[in-house]
Amino acid sequence: MIASVGVRHRGRISAALCLSVLALIPAQRASAADCPGHPDALGTSRTLVVDPREYPIIGTMQYAKTLPLQDHEVVLTFDDGPIPKNSYQVLQILADQCVKATFFLVGAQARANPGGVRKVRDAGHTVATHTQNHPSNMQRMPIDRAQKEIDDGIASVTAALADGTGPAPFFRIPGLGRNDAIETYAESKGIQVWSADFPADDWRRVSPQRVYDLAIQRLEAKGKGILLLHDIQARTVAALPKILQTLKARGYRIVHVVPATPERPATPTEPQQWQLHPTSETVAISRWPKVPNFAYAATSALPAPAWFDFDWRDAELGILTRRMRGVPLAQRTQWPRELVVAENGAATVLPVPAASLFNMPESTGVTMLGTLRRTEQAAQAALEAEASARLAPVQPGKSRRPARGALTQQAHGGQTTAKPAAHQSRHAAHAGRGVPQQAVQGKKKPRSVRVAGLKKR
Ligand SMILES: [Zn+2]
Repeated sequence: MIASVGVRHRGRISAALCLSVLALIPAQRASAADCPGHPDALGTSRTLVVDPREYPIIGTMQYAKTLPLQDHEVVLTFDDGPIPKNSYQVLQILADQCVKATFFLVGAQARANPGGVRKVRDAGHTVATHTQNHPSNMQRMPIDRAQKEIDDGIASVTAALADGTGPAPFFRIPGLGRNDAIETYAESKGIQVWSADFPADDWRRVSPQRVYDLAIQRLEAKGKGILLLHDIQARTVAALPKILQTLKARGYRIVHVVPATPERPATPTEPQQWQLHPTSETVAISRWPKVPNFAYAATSALPAPAWFDFDWRDAELGILTRRMRGVPLAQRTQWPRELVVAENGAATVLPVPAASLFNMPESTGVTMLGTLRRTEQAAQAALEAEASARLAPVQPGKSRRPARGALTQQAHGGQTTAKPAAHQSRHAAHAGRGVPQQAVQGKKKPRSVRVAGLKKR
């Protein structure tokens, strides 16, 4: 529902701006020449009108999209005000340069100093919001509390404006402590979440010179972008004149951003203009990485590996346990994985089957034992089986089970001797002819080899 409303809204805006784009461009232009009494002022080169619903999150410090600025265009933003002592100085410095900026005001500050909010508005800057109480852990806050912070901040600034208008639908999360729920909520209200393209670390205990250096270095690294500053900081007040002078000297241009309204359509842009500007090692994003999307864990240690991480054969059991939602399964024994190997090591010499084994007619109903042990006993057992076949025809139904040894041989696919023997035993079993008892019991039983699954048959 919200999305469809947004689409319709965008469509209306787009249609309107197509008709008025040529008329708007001259009206948006401003320059230092328009700054009375300050012929050398930096000025504001243009006004960028943005539709918050079209690009709900911006700022390359955290997002893939940012304002559609041209090379050497800069957007100034100031957070945490208004506080008379420093914020008013910032307003004066900007006024001296005829520079327009965006102020992300804190609701509590607005309540305490509503006149400061109106000063920002009356100076022509964009009034935006920054929560009610500036929580430092907004990304870990329950969403209902985060929503209240957003809503109360807007309400406080609206009350301070006292003219029936509200702040621009631009919002910056304190500490850039984003999470999906906050962004989703803001978008649902048509509010654009502003990160930034680079800060100047002016909230840290650094010198004004450091603030200046970082602002300029990071801007130079990107070539354009949204600069994050704090108008409540004395060091920012001290650094700002020099920053603006340098911007002017190096050919940067200030862009003032305002929200689109039905009467003021968004500046026409192409989607690629909002895409992430290529970054480098020197830009701020490498120093202030994106706030992770997951909740912070209380533990400082990594979890110990699970036991089934160490063996693929056991992993299956681990997966099963998890699928059973913690219901413990019986510990699997190791026996199914035992491989049959020659007991005397690698058996490379096999007994030679008697030639007569291959000459017996099927009708004799003889099943030959596969030899398990590569010993003379096995060969002798085969000979005895041959003799028994001649002497004693099998009684029907007496024993239809093939000798264990033969089956064992089958299961291992001719791992040892004699496929012919195994084949015959299988054939005999299918034919319903049992193994002569004498063949199995007459002599010492060949040692059987256990094979997974066969015991269940
Ligand atoms: Zn802040």
